[in-house]
Amino acid sequence: MPNTNIVAVDKNRPERDKIKRAAEIIRKGGLVAFPTETVYGLGGNALDENAAKKIYAAKGRPQDNPLIVHISSHLQLDQLVKEIPVRARILMDKFWPGPLTIIFYKKDIVPYGTTGGLDTVAIRMPAHPVALELISEAKVPIAAPSANISGRPSPVCAKDVAEDLSGRIEMILDGGATSVGVESTVLDLSEKVPMILRPGGVTREDLEEILGPVDLDPGLAPGEKPRSPGQKYRHYAPKAQMTVVEGSIENQVKTIEEFAKRLETDGFEVGIMATAQTRHRYTRGHIISVGDRTAPLTISSNLFTILRKFDRLGVDKILAEGISKDGIGLAVMNRLYKAAGFNVLKV
Ligand code: AMP
Ligand code: MG
Repeated sequence: MPNTNIVAVDKNRPERDKIKRAAEIIRKGGLVAFPTETVYGLGGNALDENAAKKIYAAKGRPQDNPLIVHISSHLQLDQLVKEIPVRARILMDKFWPGPLTIIFYKKDIVPYGTTGGLDTVAIRMPAHPVALELISEAKVPIAAPSANISGRPSPVCAKDVAEDLSGRIEMILDGGATSVGVESTVLDLSEKVPMILRPGGVTREDLEEILGPVDLDPGLAPGEKPRSPGQKYRHYAPKAQMTVVEGSIENQVKTIEEFAKRLETDGFEVGIMATAQTRHRYTRGHIISVGDRTAPLTISSNLFTILRKFDRLGVDKILAEGISKDGIGLAVMNRLYKAAGFNVLKV
């Protein structure tokens, strides 16, 4: 078991010696968690099957859930993929570095251990100085899933990573809190109409402005088979049982308040995930605002922190308000549905 070294790093101007130490670990086949703009990643050499194995082991991740490969320059892409479609180039120019992951056909150099046995590889360039410096110093592309134990809420600060992975990885680069707070958008360009396999930091509206109509994988609905292997697993889940309540704000507040009362009468400890607009309207339970409905980035960036907070409070039940699926709201609601195991109440 490695001793996990937590190293604070300047997120805008990462110190060279610290990045060098981290890069050295990656080159030698070890694991380093590092900040990106979405969530913290658990990084290993993407071209080393053995490093990929260590990532799966450290996270307890199912073997068929492929890893996203992170690069620091457009040039690095040629080494990894068979072809770069025109639409991909346009998107890379517009959204990289940033929270957009694109699926490509892989070259042989990318091991099946990294792609979960697939002939395709998911690639993105993160918009975070620490991540970019680390990849560039390591001189290899870095495979990096979220740095949490599989199934738990994703980590948005070094403390979250340490909570899950201490003693399982060599180093955590602590660059403070991430900004987007939900993972990247995963996009498949293999069909005529591009398809979002996982909604994320780059919104459907952002993509449609460039590409025209973009589909959302219908397999993301409950009981369906998603195209992206990782999407079939229960995910992001707090320990408590969670219900998402969707409808008009008035109906949400009324239903959650009544529901909380019933649960408390039955002896349950209740957490309410409210918003800035509604938090003052509840009278019972642990009431936490996830953010401001008029500024959805405040909600995405807080979401996983609040889910972990409910875990620490030890609540039995979480009642969460739904928000609009516009913009980043689509990614937020996707994470909420999964965290709740699709336990959704429409009111
Ligand atoms: P995470 O590493 O936790 O951000 O999850 C990575 C996501 O990317 C999972 O949902 C994977 O299924 C998806 N993914 C990675 N590689 C591929 C690929 N080649 N094809 C489709 N989805 C992929
Ligand atoms: Mg993950």
